[in-house]
Amino acid sequence: MTDCRIGVVGAAGRMGRVLLRLAATTPGYRLAAGSERPGAAELGRDLGSLAGMEPLGLILGDNAEAVFAASDAVLDFTTPSAALAHAALAAASGKAHVIGTTGIDAAGEAKLAEAAAGAPIVYAGNMSLGVNLLAELVTQVARSLDPAWDIEIIEMHHRHKVDAPSGTALLLGRAAAAGRNVKLEEVAERGRDGITGARKSGTIGFTALRGGDVVGEHSVIFATEGERIELTHKATSREIFARGALRAARWAAGRKPGLYAMKDVLGL
Ligand code: NAD
Repeated sequence: MTDCRIGVVGAAGRMGRVLLRLAATTPGYRLAAGSERPGAAELGRDLGSLAGMEPLGLILGDNAEAVFAASDAVLDFTTPSAALAHAALAAASGKAHVIGTTGIDAAGEAKLAEAAAGAPIVYAGNMSLGVNLLAELVTQVARSLDPAWDIEIIEMHHRHKVDAPSGTALLLGRAAAAGRNVKLEEVAERGRDGITGARKSGTIGFTALRGGDVVGEHSVIFATEGERIELTHKATSREIFARGALRAARWAAGRKPGLYAMKDVLGL
């Protein structure tokens, strides 16, 4: 099996550096190139040193198009606007694009679907095996329980996170809504504050906590009169997302164009 050539956009970010290290050190993968936004302080640095390793002779540039050209698959944990610009490059090059970036709105997601006509794109608010298994469980539980069970989703992340609720919380919310055969957009209850009135039956509530260095914790709570079920996932290392992203890269490289989820990659 030939090595899967990996490109990393947003390579100097928290996830970017972990992706660089795992792409360079995991058997079956080869780190091919990395980029950052124009003006980033790290431009010109060696990708190996950036990831806390020996220099690799690969230099961080600001040309994402060159990253797509040099890679079989490009990993993207950046910002919504950057990820959409990168998806257009994926469509133009036909190269696989693995998007872990969260906070992309509905209009942005429609653009991703358009780009996916020209390239295989894996898009997932969480790339870990554990969370994707949890999502399957959440669908099953939501399907088994009647709507008298209230569903609440609580998440906590580090103080630097810029979007809320997290992409993972939304993924779990969608999984719960799917189990009830409803659309999350129609039942989501976000940001309660003040005199909100009693809880509306059938809604799915979201609460976001931010603080410290928490990598990511999510609980889906099913509550009814007299009992409660809580399903929880705790991430203690960003490597779980990076490993999932590499797996998605190999799965997507050379596959026919389309918009895929981690569920497809993991065969769940
Ligand atoms: P971060 O801010 O540390 O890193 C983002 C990087 O992208 C920064 O270095 C930034 O300079 C760079 N960037 C911005 N615009 C760019 C452009 N046009 N071209 C190239 N690079 C650009 O953030 P982070 O903690 O690494 O998270 C990044 C994203 O990944 C967030 O949306 C986060 O929610 C998401 N995330 C997803 C998963 C998952 O499993 N799906 C896991 C962790 C984080």
